[in-house]
Amino acid sequence: MRQYLIAGNWKMHTDINSSVELAVGIKNDLITKEGVIVLVCPPFINLWHVAQEVKSTDIFVGAQNCYYEDKGAFTGEISVNMIKSIGCEYIIIGHSERRAIFNEQDELINKKAHAILKKGIKPIICIGETLDDRRAEKTNRVLHHQLDIGLLGISDDQAKDIVIAYEPVWAIGTGISAENQQIEDAHRFIRNFLSERFATNGKNILIQYGGSVNPDNAAEILSIENVNGALIGGASLKADSFMAIVNAAQSLV
Ligand code: PEP
Repeated sequence: MRQYLIAGNWKMHTDINSSVELAVGIKNDLITKEGVIVLVCPPFINLWHVAQEVKSTDIFVGAQNCYYEDKGAFTGEISVNMIKSIGCEYIIIGHSERRAIFNEQDELINKKAHAILKKGIKPIICIGETLDDRRAEKTNRVLHHQLDIGLLGISDDQAKDIVIAYEPVWAIGTGISAENQQIEDAHRFIRNFLSERFATNGKNILIQYGGSVNPDNAAEILSIENVNGALIGGASLKADSFMAIVNAAQSLV
């Protein structure tokens, strides 16, 4: 059966009240269907409240970032243990905004991936080319580098717990998603890489697409070969639009 992971990245949006309100909206509308995992990733400060709200439901909660050390003098950072202790099972790492604004490199992202896997939860590793990369026909080279370094030292057994999010940087928050053919090509490239790197589990790793997914384009994007879900920014901030994407995935399994 085809598997989908539909994840909302709330970025630096919502406060305590509106995050709980959004979680309640999703909870009230969700009718679980096997094959579709639903995940919400609120800002750190709202994680606990959202986790409490969805505790006895099938909604998973994840964080948008972490630090790779367990504890210590790292002012302002949050460890995987801390995140795990409030019930999170996924952590987004390497989002293009963290790469571009906070200068995160693949080596750091790799350390975070190891720290997350060591604690038995799942990293969602974001990769994707900029518009300049695409125009210079460097998309595959960039994806290869991000995967090669980002996944360094991860075993085939650990690979069953990773998720890759392909997010072309130029499609994030622009309202213009990548074309179907571009998505299909990138996902095939990623799948081939993963299958070569991880002989046993590479073929089953979930590969999400992210970049202006909305209720109108979700069904078409989710039907593309090797697309196993979506990482959603803007459209995840309203329960009805997020749930419309969840429903699109559910209608495909
Ligand atoms: C994202 O933040 O990962 C994202 C894909 O945002 P949007 O859906 O708004 O393009």
